[in-house]
Amino acid sequence: MMTPRILDGNAIAAQIKAEVAAEAQALAAKGVRPGLAAVLVGNVPASEIYVRNKVRTSEQLGLYSDLITPPETVTTEEMLDVVAQLNARDDIDGILIQLPLPKQVNAKRLLEAVSPEKDVDGFHPVNVGRLQTGQPALAPCTPAGMIEILKRSDIPIAGQNAVVIGRSDIVGKPISILLLQENATVTICHSKTRDLASVTRNADILVAAIGRPGFVTPEMVKPGATILDVGINRISSREEFDKYFAGDEKREQAFLLKGSTIVGDVHPEAFKVAGAYTPVPGGVGPLTIAMLMANTVRAAKLRRGLV
Ligand code: NAD
Repeated sequence: MMTPRILDGNAIAAQIKAEVAAEAQALAAKGVRPGLAAVLVGNVPASEIYVRNKVRTSEQLGLYSDLITPPETVTTEEMLDVVAQLNARDDIDGILIQLPLPKQVNAKRLLEAVSPEKDVDGFHPVNVGRLQTGQPALAPCTPAGMIEILKRSDIPIAGQNAVVIGRSDIVGKPISILLLQENATVTICHSKTRDLASVTRNADILVAAIGRPGFVTPEMVKPGATILDVGINRISSREEFDKYFAGDEKREQAFLLKGSTIVGDVHPEAFKVAGAYTPVPGGVGPLTIAMLMANTVRAAKLRRGLV
């Protein structure tokens, strides 16, 4: 068996970020500084880390960024007001509302209130519709990044059988549409799919977006396939560690030090059957922020008719 190729998401994300920085510089010469507003409600530690990274990366790439931090007790009306103000601001091109929101806030209403032109997460129904009908749209960051991984790694998509496990609005559905646009033959699987392995074994490109550790096992993979593993599952028990990573000394050291590690939706043994795969961590994950930055610059250009 050939050694599978590891698709290095960190390297590809760095490349995209360098391109975004260059674009930001070119726009600066025209007096335009793309701006991203991040709205972080309350004190969810994981959200705080994500948002901090997004703000820091914006600044590193020469984008303007503004962090807005309503309290945990904020109401839907107050949040709608925050969004309306951001919609109206000319220095803001992208609006990011970090999820999850406290339960008293109507998240759906809020996401629909974001101007589609500033919807850099690509979650607004208008952008979903535009994407679906092949019009210029802001595409959701993680799926858009997955396409970049394939293209920049010279993995053919047109005519290939792509199988997507998962049908979420954030990953499964949009990646299916993007793969279809690239002329793959796409099959979408989910929790009610019968005999999943018989479907996934047909995949030249297999996307795992399920949210279950090590779900995809070797017999589900066509030898030589490309696997994109979107899953981020934290495991902290020794038993689970051994189930996925027994004998992986480097990972074990990190696990012992930190008390946990991350495993994707694909069992490491299944990667051995593949021709190429995105590792976890360091595969799909890093693309999300890179594409958020790219979307912000794109939104700035679209809004000013510069595309
Ligand atoms: P989700 O929970 O919204 O959707 C999971 C999907 O998996 C559902 O559509 C469901 O039908 C399907 N599923 C569940 N059990 C199944 C089964 N037994 N067989 C077949 N399908 C099954 O999850 P999501 O938001 O799409 O996220 C999926 C994973 O990707 C999570 O681990 C999440 O943390 C990760 N994620 C990573 C990034 C990133 O890398 N930046 C971004 C978003 C999500």
